[in-house]
Amino acid sequence: SAIIEIDHLSKRYGSGTAALNDVSLNIEEGEILALLGPNGAGKTTMISIICGLVRPTGGTVRVGGHDIRTDWRAARKLIGLVPQEILLEPFETVRDCVRFTRGLYGEGPDEAYVEQLLRSLALWDKRDAKTRELSGGMKRRVLIAKALSHRPKVLFLDEPTAGVDVTLRREMWQVVRELSAQGVTVILTTHYLEEAEDMADRIGVINKGELLLVKPKAELMGEFGKKH
Ligand code: ADP
Ligand code: ADP
Repeated sequence: SAIIEIDHLSKRYGSGTAALNDVSLNIEEGEILALLGPNGAGKTTMISIICGLVRPTGGTVRVGGHDIRTDWRAARKLIGLVPQEILLEPFETVRDCVRFTRGLYGEGPDEAYVEQLLRSLALWDKRDAKTRELSGGMKRRVLIAKALSHRPKVLFLDEPTAGVDVTLRREMWQVVRELSAQGVTVILTTHYLEEAEDMADRIGVINKGELLLVKPKAELMGEFGKKH
């Protein structure tokens, strides 16, 4: 069943052109969905609205049945967001980072869960390291651990592999697959067809604020005339 229901969603910033125009989409529980589109297509706007960072101009979004306008507290408990930018407290330890975010979500301490999370992201050995000592890939995994600290059912990844080398890209791909296997719904944005193709079960193509089509990966690849 659908964990996220997007109905006739629109967004206009100020008096500018529509960043999103009448987008409707259901995201199914447990799937990996890629939102594919060029820069400026509206991808970040879409996930920012679902995550409550940007206010829609029109339309509705429900997360787990909760309308984000009227029932935001319940909706946001179900959501974790990994932002595009890596911004971490440089002198904080990995474990404290995750504890802190859990606290922000109003969740009490749960050391067993924090350990499980750090182990699953191959960060347990680095639990007492300060974030500034970590490699780029580890920092990205810390951001994922923070986003998962309150056990959301949906994880958003905004351009997870932008500016990342091939090895790191593979690593992100692994992490996403594992999360999905654990039952987390994953929504990622990308402007690389290859990335959407590698990672996702279903691909939505966005351009100029319009959701042009949403298809299972296999079908879409067929339509692109196939290169593999
Ligand atoms: P994408 O994530 O696909 O690159 P965005 O959602 O960031 O696209 O942007 C969609 C459109 O909305 C672009 O035309 C962009 O310039 C515009 N936009 C995004 N954020 C803002 C903002 N805060 N104020 C005004 N315009 C914005
Ligand atoms: P801005 O809001 O201008 O982008 P930031 O909030 O990114 O500034 O940074 C505020 C201050 O903290 C700046 O002096 C910046 O150099 C410093 N800073 C930001 N990130 C780090 C970091 N990872 N390590 C050390 N100093 C940082």
